[in-house]
Amino acid sequence: MDTIHVTRPSMPDYDEYCREIQKLWDSRRLTNMGPEHEALRAALEQYLGCPHVVLHANGHLALENALAAMGLPRGGEVITTPFTFASTTHAIVRNGLTPVFCDVEGDAFTMDPGKIEALITDKTVAILPVHVYGHVCDVAAIDRVAKAHGLPVIYDAAHAFGVRYKGVSAVNFGDAAILSFHATKVFHTIEGGAVCLGREDLAARLDDLKNFGIRGPEQCAVPGGNAKMNEFQAAMGLCNLRHVGGEIAKRGRLAERYRRNLAGVPGIRLCRPQKDVTPNFAYFPVLFDGFRASRDAVCDALAERHIMARKYFYPLTSRFPCYAHLPTAGRAGTPVAAYAADCVLTLPLYADLAVEDVDRICEAILACGK
Ligand SMILES: *Cc1c(COP(=O)(O)O)cnc(C)c1O
Repeated sequence: MDTIHVTRPSMPDYDEYCREIQKLWDSRRLTNMGPEHEALRAALEQYLGCPHVVLHANGHLALENALAAMGLPRGGEVITTPFTFASTTHAIVRNGLTPVFCDVEGDAFTMDPGKIEALITDKTVAILPVHVYGHVCDVAAIDRVAKAHGLPVIYDAAHAFGVRYKGVSAVNFGDAAILSFHATKVFHTIEGGAVCLGREDLAARLDDLKNFGIRGPEQCAVPGGNAKMNEFQAAMGLCNLRHVGGEIAKRGRLAERYRRNLAGVPGIRLCRPQKDVTPNFAYFPVLFDGFRASRDAVCDALAERHIMARKYFYPLTSRFPCYAHLPTAGRAGTPVAAYAADCVLTLPLYADLAVEDVDRICEAILACGK
């Protein structure tokens, strides 16, 4: 039996990609903001309805550079969530800043806006929430707290490509938002990412940061690094963007099937669809709380049947050994996040997963409860 992984990259037709990259053999422009890069940037700015989309080699470097572009004083504290991928917390630390972990709220598992204010000190310099699983944070409440304290908000929107809140793309909230175009994400460029933002001066700073600070043949302005997206990545993005709507629709049908099979089962909790949100079905998280089998037992039982669900996100980043020294790290500080990390299992979900496989996965889960 073939192994079912938690995700599987969407791929354009082989010939479609070949046509897209054929131009590169003629032009020999392989990177450095060539025509494919520029075409993808423009297409994404239109798709996302965002004034500036600064493409990057990957989502992590986009996040590091987004923080750097804000010019935050070194040693400052950034209020963030521990219920996320390692990248979010590492990007803060790699900028010489200190993460301060805020708890999440108990349905969407996004940052709890009611718990931010108590964490603000005279060292706080920014807020970095995550639209985890593509669930949109309480952007209005976070914005109110941020404005009251004069803090910039940078959203990690790595999971939220194509997600809309009240018709507005999720990347358009906060001072900046980053996307990941990693192969495992809803829309991908093999590896890739972007900073999405409204301010032109910040976009120009990001152009510097991702290309050595070079502004012209004899002009190097600032000590930037290298985080450029190359032409092959951009070509993959242009192809995938043509099909992303269909891919999201397929994911939606599978998510609906999971919901139908698992809704109302005692001890299994599903995340409620969010009000006013157009979802992208990036993940299908399920919480085992009072189920006959523990989350870990279900995960192991599925693995025995070659079904590779994942514990996204366990452990909390605040529990990583490299962050054990942080005063705010640890279980006591973020009980809801700790609960989610202990109970959640993310089930396989990708566009060409078969409905029969969804049924088989659900049967295997229900068998654990007998
Ligand atoms: C994938 C991801 C990133 C990093 O993106 P890469 O493109 O893999 O570098 C950052 N934050 C979150 C929440 C992610 O899931």
